[in-house]
Amino acid sequence: MDSRTVGILGGGQLGRMIVEAANRLNVKTVILDAPNSPAKQINALTEHVDGSFANPADIEKIAAKCDVLTVEIEHVDVPTLQKVQKTYPKLEIYPSPETIQLIQDKYLQKEHLIKNDIAVAESVAIEEASEQALADVGSKFGYPYMLKSRTLAYDGRGNFVVKSKESIPEALIALQNRPLYAEKWAPFTKELAVMIVRSINGKVYSYPVVETIHQDNICHLCFAPARIPDSVQLKAKLLAGNAIKSFPGCGIFGVEMFYLENGQLMINEIAPRPHNSGHFTIDACVTSQFEAHVRAILGLPLPANFASLSTSNTNAIMLNVLGDKVKDKELETCERALQTPGASVYLYGKESRPQRKMGHINIVSSSMQQCERKLRYITGESDEGSG
Ligand code: ATP
Ligand code: MG
Ligand code: MG
Repeated sequence: MDSRTVGILGGGQLGRMIVEAANRLNVKTVILDAPNSPAKQINALTEHVDGSFANPADIEKIAAKCDVLTVEIEHVDVPTLQKVQKTYPKLEIYPSPETIQLIQDKYLQKEHLIKNDIAVAESVAIEEASEQALADVGSKFGYPYMLKSRTLAYDGRGNFVVKSKESIPEALIALQNRPLYAEKWAPFTKELAVMIVRSINGKVYSYPVVETIHQDNICHLCFAPARIPDSVQLKAKLLAGNAIKSFPGCGIFGVEMFYLENGQLMINEIAPRPHNSGHFTIDACVTSQFEAHVRAILGLPLPANFASLSTSNTNAIMLNVLGDKVKDKELETCERALQTPGASVYLYGKESRPQRKMGHINIVSSSMQQCERKLRYITGESDEGSG
C-alpha cells in the first residue's frame, strides 16, 4: 500500500499490534527495542535495532532506516527526535516531537490542556518535595489528593494517594527522587476512555466511548460502548476531540477521562499512541486502532464510519490477561476464552510475571448481557456462557 518504511520506537504489545496491522497492508516496519521483544517476534527482518527508545544513539540508528517514525510509548528521548528531524528533513515523525514532549510530562500536559480550555483536575507543581510542601497541598485541595510523578508513569506506578496529613512521610518515600505534582481528587462514578484519530490534514475522528475498570491501578476490563447516556457519549467525544486538536501532528491518541458524580467530564490523561482501552476495536470496529494509526501516519484513506462499531448492536468487553502468581496460570483463562464463541485471544509473547500485561481477550456479542455472561465463563465465575 505504501513503499515507505515505518520505524517504531518500542516493541511491546502495542508495537506488535501495529506491526500486525501494517503487515496486512504490506507496509514494512522496523523496531527499536530489546532483542526478541514482542513486536520483533512477529516481524522477521534483520534491520531491527537492538537497544532502547530512551537512548539517543539507538534512536539515531533507527531514524536512518525509516521514512516515517512513530512510537508505541511516550517515554522516548525527545531531544534526539528533534535532532534527527534536522538530520533527515524528509523523515516524518508522528506523533510530533512537540506533542510527545508536552504529553510525557504529565504536569506540562495539564498546563497545556488548561491553556486550551479543556477540563482537567486542578493541579499544582511541587518544586521541592517536603512535608511542608505536601501539607500545603493538603490545605489547598483537602484529603485525599493524588500525588503523581510528572514523568515515566504507567499502570499507576508513579501515583500515591495522600489520604491524610499522616500519610505524607510515606508519600515522600514512595515517590522519592521523582519530579512531582499534585492533583485534586476527582470523585468519579466511572472512568471513560475515547480513542481519537487525527488525520494528516488535521481532521479528528472518534471511536465509541468506552468504560474502563481498573484493579490495582491496572486496566482490568473495558466495556464498549460505555454504559452511559447518549448525550454523555457525545460530550465525551467532543471533549476528547477538542483536546487532541490542541496538539500538533497526526495518528492515534487515547484519552482517559473521569465522569464525575455531578455529571461533569474531565480529562485524566492523554496517550499519544494506541491504548489499552482501544483493544476492543480489533474485533468490534470497522477498523482497528492499530490500522487507523498506520493509515493516519501514512496519509492513507480514513473513510466514513471507519471508527464505528461493526454493526449498530455490536457490544464488546475487553479483559486484560495479567500474569498470575503461579507462572503461566493465566493461560487457563485463555483456554476458556478459546472455547467461547465470539471471544478472541491475543497473547503478546512475554514471559509470565505477576501483574504483567500478558495478553487480552475481546468478547463480542449483540448485547452487553451476553458479553457479560461469556465473561463470567471465561473468568471461571460460572460454567455457563460458553454457548
Ligand atoms: P496508565 O497506565 O493509564 O498510563 P498512569 O500510571 O499514568 O496510568 P493515571 O492514569 O494518572 O496513572 O492514574 C491511574 C488511576 O488512578 C486512574 O485511572 C484513576 O483510577 C486514578 N486516578 C488518577 N488521578 C486521579 C485523581 N485526580 N482523582 C482520583 N483518582 C485518580
Ligand atoms: Mg499514564
Ligand atoms: Mg492512566
